[in-house]
Amino acid sequence: MKADLKGMSPAETEAWVEAQGLPVYRAKQLRQWLFKGLVISFKEMTNIPKGLRAQLEEQARINHLVQEKTEVSRDRTTKFLFKLEDGHFIETVLIPERGHFTVCISSQAGCAMGCRFCLTARQGLKRNLSASEIVDQVIHVKRSMSEPDRLTNIVFMGMGEPLANYDAVVRALDNLISEEGMNFSHHTVTLSTCGLVPQLKRLGKEVRVNLAVSLNASEEETRSFLMPVNRKYSLKSLVEALREFPLLNRRMITFEYVLVGGINDRDEDAYRVAALLKGMRAKINLIALNPHPDLDLAPPTPERILRFQEILIEHHFTAMIRKSKGQDISAACGQLSGKQAGCVSEDTGCEEPSRILD
Ligand code: SAH
Repeated sequence: MKADLKGMSPAETEAWVEAQGLPVYRAKQLRQWLFKGLVISFKEMTNIPKGLRAQLEEQARINHLVQEKTEVSRDRTTKFLFKLEDGHFIETVLIPERGHFTVCISSQAGCAMGCRFCLTARQGLKRNLSASEIVDQVIHVKRSMSEPDRLTNIVFMGMGEPLANYDAVVRALDNLISEEGMNFSHHTVTLSTCGLVPQLKRLGKEVRVNLAVSLNASEEETRSFLMPVNRKYSLKSLVEALREFPLLNRRMITFEYVLVGGINDRDEDAYRVAALLKGMRAKINLIALNPHPDLDLAPPTPERILRFQEILIEHHFTAMIRKSKGQDISAACGQLSGKQAGCVSEDTGCEEPSRILD
């Protein structure tokens, strides 16, 4: 197996370089080409002698995703479909905002969490992504942009549950955020989770990153109905863990709340959310359920969305109604399937959603 350079930390790269009998400064050079030069081959590393490039090519590989397809939405949101080396598919979404871009990346092919409203859940988990496959989504998207410096924000809100792939995600975060990596600001990188409590506690101790939590309900029963993970890690235990989560100065936890008509969008739900999060540094993003073909749930009415927001604001929360971008190309929240006609990945190795509850 050739070494996977993009998945290594700075110290591991140095150790690897030394093991090849090379001076340690080559590690820095390699990382600069990979994470700042965004190269996809050793050939592009022009300040490394040709002979050495050939030697490196023998020993290491520069993993890179194969772009199968891109689609551009009316609102200029771009969805990338990538084929992994073993034939699975993942999706990555580039979202234009005012003055900058956000990239929404995947942490797993498929997902084992089984959320009732989410299309990714339908396929179950195919497999975890490696750290380099996670970082490579950002590299690939950045390479495709005419003004790459305008890509400033990263959200782990694509396919998969990032905390279910903890080690690779933390490794990827390090290469995305550190100075010796892609040097994104940790203020502009957000990890979104359905609430895996043990990993959440670990994350708080180990990594500096913005946190978003998919709340989606205000009491146990509805949350368990919408998100089976709640049967393992209850809302109560989740909120307790979040109250302990170390927040750096002035940071807030973002709560995502997908409004589902008649299920979690009533006044009493909003009052309960306010009570549940009372005293927390919390910002609440309200998202109207995005439709997809085989969904047995309905979106909320516009009146309900506004009323829900009003109640949260009355309780002094920052509550924003988030318009999902890229709906017309199925690039919006919960619409990523990694599938397209004639290009459906095989169902081998698929973990059934219910498995996480065992
Ligand atoms: N597993 C992580 C990240 C992926 S989901 C998590 O659960 O946070 C990203 C966001 O999309 C979540 O907040 C989820 O609640 C939301 N989402 C999923 N399906 C949706 C749908 N059909 N409509 C609107 N939002 C949806």
